[in-house]
Amino acid sequence: MSKICLCLTAETLDENRHFVDEYRSSTDILELRVDCLRPDQWEMVPGALKRWELPVILTCRREADGGFFTPEQEKERQDLLWSLLDAPFAYVDLEKDLTDEKWIEKCRDKQILPIRSLHDFNGVPEDLEAFIGKAHPGEIFKAAVTIDQAEDYKVLLKILQKGLPEDTILLAMGATGFFTRVLAPVLGSWLCYCSPSTGIAAAPGHIDPLELCQRYRFRSLDRETPIMGIIGNPLGHSKSPQIHNNWLKEGEIPGVYIAFPLPEIHLLEPLRNLLDLRGLSVTIPYKVDVLEYVDEASSRVNTIGACNTLYKKEDRWMGENTDAPGFLKPLLDQLGCTDLLGRKITVIGAGGASRGIVYALKEAGAELLILNRTESKAQQLAEEFDQKWGPLSENALGVMEEYRMIIVQTTDAGMHPHIEKDPLEFYSFRGDELLYDIVFNPEITRVMERARKAGASILGGYPMLVEQARLQFKLFTGKESSR
Ligand code: NAP
Repeated sequence: MSKICLCLTAETLDENRHFVDEYRSSTDILELRVDCLRPDQWEMVPGALKRWELPVILTCRREADGGFFTPEQEKERQDLLWSLLDAPFAYVDLEKDLTDEKWIEKCRDKQILPIRSLHDFNGVPEDLEAFIGKAHPGEIFKAAVTIDQAEDYKVLLKILQKGLPEDTILLAMGATGFFTRVLAPVLGSWLCYCSPSTGIAAAPGHIDPLELCQRYRFRSLDRETPIMGIIGNPLGHSKSPQIHNNWLKEGEIPGVYIAFPLPEIHLLEPLRNLLDLRGLSVTIPYKVDVLEYVDEASSRVNTIGACNTLYKKEDRWMGENTDAPGFLKPLLDQLGCTDLLGRKITVIGAGGASRGIVYALKEAGAELLILNRTESKAQQLAEEFDQKWGPLSENALGVMEEYRMIIVQTTDAGMHPHIEKDPLEFYSFRGDELLYDIVFNPEITRVMERARKAGASILGGYPMLVEQARLQFKLFTGKESSR
């Protein structure tokens, strides 16, 4: 079973002790980063270890491996490491090039297990496979690499596909490699390094141990665990893992949902071969390109031309679009009706999201006026769905008069980090409109604020996000999500 390691990077042993106490229930092993400690703390390390009552890894990093010891301080670093081997550590991190036999002999003498480590902050080193191939009983092998480039990502997946030798840690740093940390028990990695969310992360991509245990249910993961997730690039602070994992937990449904920022879409193929993936949410920029990886697309996907959901059905990958119905439900709920027959609606924007929304609104019976900054795109979309179009400027005010009671905002103007933008600044709300802005970050956009001040009704994008996820959850798990 993979272990959880809490990395201690505070300047003092006292501060570290607070983290040990706070996270004791979700930690198997501690890693004391001696390079982060103030020098006056070094001699107090043996006493602290006895009080912590957990196995501790001794680590003293140099700059090249993400630590604080400079190349000029290498002798001082090695002397410190050597002297601390007399303290009651359970493990010591020895970089792969620290080859002198004396280290192994002292470890054997002190009954400390060495962790042979390799770090690459720029990619995957050519000798990674050979390094892991040398893993043998009596030492733990650890490699921390970077897979932001598609080539590196592919190499790592290939190595993981072959399976890891026992007592090996293979992880990728940063957001792209996040899955290698959370899925350590699935990938056969010996340990997952974590950092407290309130402290300094020991390396890029560390997760808080409580989040690992509570949101991702790390202790229950194994090679049989059904995996779901979201692909896109970048994924930033996607809310989907929080939404889906909550439903899995509340419904006591086996499975885990992870963010997979993919540098390039073709990596989906080896990722699907490696993991027992049951379903994937798909977001920018892959909603169209992902169609190449779908065995059977729904008629909705074919009409909209974009797919935000992949799910497995008897070994076939099905493509669905839940954005469209997920958008419609909150609107119908707000209006208290079941269709939009005879309603005239202005849609702002003609991008990917707008396509699904235009489809959904038309299906529900509405007549639309599509306004877009690039008018030709509004025209193209409107002609495809047999609707009206116009420019996103005061020149549209005349024609908008008939379509202004419901306004749907689908552009990313107003979305974080462009929160100061208002795509409708040429329009003065009168107070009898309903403005539905599908942006969900921030919760209230600038244009929503303006509409609210004028007395208009407003609806934000979060309910849509939840509704489209709810439909995906059913496709992924066959179960209803909790309310
Ligand atoms: P997209 O395909 O890139 O389209 C962007 C649209 O925004 C285009 O119409 C573009 O106009 C317009 N635009 C961009 N900046 C603008 C500005 N400063 N002023 C006026 N118009 C501007 O993106 P998308 O996939 O449609 O996504 C759009 C938004 O919808 C995003 O904020 C996304 O988070 C949100 N969304 C929310 C949900 C949800 O569940 N709530 C689901 C999907 C999407 P041009 O054609 O002139 O460039």
